Amino acid sequence: MNMKTLLAASVASLCLSTAGSFAQDAQTVAQNDLLNATLWMQASVEHKAVTRGLFDLAKLRLDQALADKAWTATPNKEGAKYQDEPVAIIADLDETLLDNANYQASLIQRGTNFSSKEWTNYVNSQTSTAMPGAIDFLKYAASKGVKIFYVSNRTKDEEPGTRANMEKLGFPMGGNVDTVLSKKEQADWGSAKENRIAYVAKDYRVALLMGDNLGDFSDVAKGSVAERQAFYDKTKDNWGKTWIMFPNPEYGSWESAAFGGDWSKSGDERRKEKIEALKPWTPTH
Ligand SMILES: [Mg+2]
Repeated sequence: MNMKTLLAASVASLCLSTAGSFAQDAQTVAQNDLLNATLWMQASVEHKAVTRGLFDLAKLRLDQALADKAWTATPNKEGAKYQDEPVAIIADLDETLLDNANYQASLIQRGTNFSSKEWTNYVNSQTSTAMPGAIDFLKYAASKGVKIFYVSNRTKDEEPGTRANMEKLGFPMGGNVDTVLSKKEQADWGSAKENRIAYVAKDYRVALLMGDNLGDFSDVAKGSVAERQAFYDKTKDNWGKTWIMFPNPEYGSWESAAFGGDWSKSGDERRKEKIEALKPWTPTH
């Protein structure tokens, strides 16, 4: 082997070993669709800043609502005398008032997926934290005599652990009124929330709806992408006023809408449909 050939062989072998180590590194760090969203929710100050700002906005809107007896977040569900009723707020829990990023982080680090059984175990660990700004806002509302109803898809069986977690964090718990309205607590309370919202609106003037998912505002959440868009177009004046939406890039009905709500599809099928749901720019070169 002459010098030139030897050099070429060494370079080739170096390239191969480098390529090999890159491939190995890529294999040891599995891709996970939850990674960036969870990192943002748990570790970014950007998320904290957005959330705190939204609770400040909610406080301003609540002040407006208290000063204006005609103000309601649920005009189609109020009774004729709603203006004379006591004021309430309806808020979702998970990823609205409660931060469960440690659960999502656990799924990522263990390379596993959501399971309802493990979720109950998580709820009972009582390790959810309060969203930045949530407790100050809720205490302010309570100090004004406003009842806060927590309309959550945590189940009736998960309610004791949920209540204990919330009490530790300082949530106003409603005194002698049951303000934690869990899924399955009544026979017809499923995951769709509008009947629970109507249940509150029957006796209260609802100042604000607060959530991280379209389903916290309307049962149309389970509809198609087009139905959801049509609902948004129809209701866009509500957002940031009577309805406050919080950011949740980890999960939600927006995700399942992209693959027709069919969770029986494999992870790869769902990912393929999500990629196909994107509207790309096409390079011209
Ligand atoms: Mg939620």
